[in-house]
Amino acid sequence: MNPGFSAEEERFRAEVREFLDDWRDLDAYFVQGHRWDRVQSFFRALGERGWLSLTWPVEWGGLARPIAYEYLLWDEVGHARAARNPLGPGIVAKTILRYGTDAQKKRWLPAIRSGDAHFSLGYSEPEAGSDLASLRCRAEATGGGGYRVTGEKCWQSYAQDMDYLWLLVRTGAPESRGEGLTLVIVDLDAEGVTLGPLPTLDGDQLNEIRLDAVEVAAERRVGPENGAWKIMAEALADERHIQFPPGRVKRDLADVTRWLHDRGLDGDPTVRRTLAELAVDALEVEVHALRVLDAMQKGRPGAVEAAASKIAHTLVCQKIARAAFEWGGPESLCVDSPVQILWLQSLWETIGGGTSEIMRSIVARQGLGLSGKR
Ligand SMILES: Cc1cc2nc3c(=O)[nH]c(=O)nc-3n(C[C@H](O)[C@H](O)[C@H](O)COP(=O)(O)OP(=O)(O)OC[C@H]3O[C@@H](n4cnc5c(N)ncnc54)[C@H](O)[C@@H]3O)c2cc1C
Repeated sequence: MNPGFSAEEERFRAEVREFLDDWRDLDAYFVQGHRWDRVQSFFRALGERGWLSLTWPVEWGGLARPIAYEYLLWDEVGHARAARNPLGPGIVAKTILRYGTDAQKKRWLPAIRSGDAHFSLGYSEPEAGSDLASLRCRAEATGGGGYRVTGEKCWQSYAQDMDYLWLLVRTGAPESRGEGLTLVIVDLDAEGVTLGPLPTLDGDQLNEIRLDAVEVAAERRVGPENGAWKIMAEALADERHIQFPPGRVKRDLADVTRWLHDRGLDGDPTVRRTLAELAVDALEVEVHALRVLDAMQKGRPGAVEAAASKIAHTLVCQKIARAAFEWGGPESLCVDSPVQILWLQSLWETIGGGTSEIMRSIVARQGLGLSGKR
């Protein structure tokens, strides 16, 4: 038992593990796109248990549990490799709870809670990723509070299967940077929305999305016009404790250890020494993740802890995969061999959700107080 969690929380973890026994076939952490029907059933099963709304207030159908429950849920789901935490119950629902009108809460929260409404994140553009404040996708007011949206987005995860785009658009002047951005919800099958696949090295896909004079009704704007920057920061902060579950890293290490054992390679002293080092690395990853949870439980933003956690998590995933790739010899060169897939899947983790350079910059500036100026 982890001394940081109460007996009740540990019971919840055990309950999640037992529930996951029926979903062990899923293995969709990276390939939700290939298994969407089953992943959707999985999310609905979570919804039936109230686990997509664990921390929401009771009046909106939530269980009002402490955030440790979300951590435990997604840590176990990560370990089972069943799926990544979906955008709807987190960023979208928590933003609507905080900034939405009553009508928006009634419209969106029940469908998100039950696992029936799914969202893709429409932030990045071809010329705006790390520097999101430079985005150009334009929303022109059409009167009555509505907008007409034109622009281009790219790298949208899972958009090919989702229902809605959680879309960041420019409503202010072109040079307004973060002060001229607004969040709207767009149907992914609306007129004027076109999706194209962007294949990834591991055989999955991201998407590029064109928006050509897409009509967006007034009630689809969430929060104030030009007020998205603050809202996005808060939404990100709400999700820090579940973005990089250590369970996923432990699972990678366990899989590689079993793979070595099956090939009789785990008797080699150099292999054993590397495995021991990787086990220590995996523990460090868990400590980082728990520091994020601890900061948030104590009411601190946890941004520095989360940046350090992302760096540790993604680099250790790559280290484990790289070691297996090297031990694999010719097997590593075979397309679709487990070691090759693990390696390819680990590569983009240091980019999505903010690159390692940006994370290091957060640690340097906010954690260490370094300004970068001479
Ligand atoms: C697997 C995956 C899934 C993704 N899913 C989504 C999604 O669902 N929705 C979405 O909107 N986006 C998504 N993204 C996009 C992701 O957020 C961006 O790729 C990321 O923010 C980097 O932006 P960029 O690709 O434009 O690179 P750039 O910002 O152009 O960066 C290029 C290089 O320059 C470095 N760099 C940039 N600025 C600085 C700086 N200030 N200091 C130091 N170095 C810097 C970067 O670290 C990087 O190495 C996804 C990306 C990946 C890989």
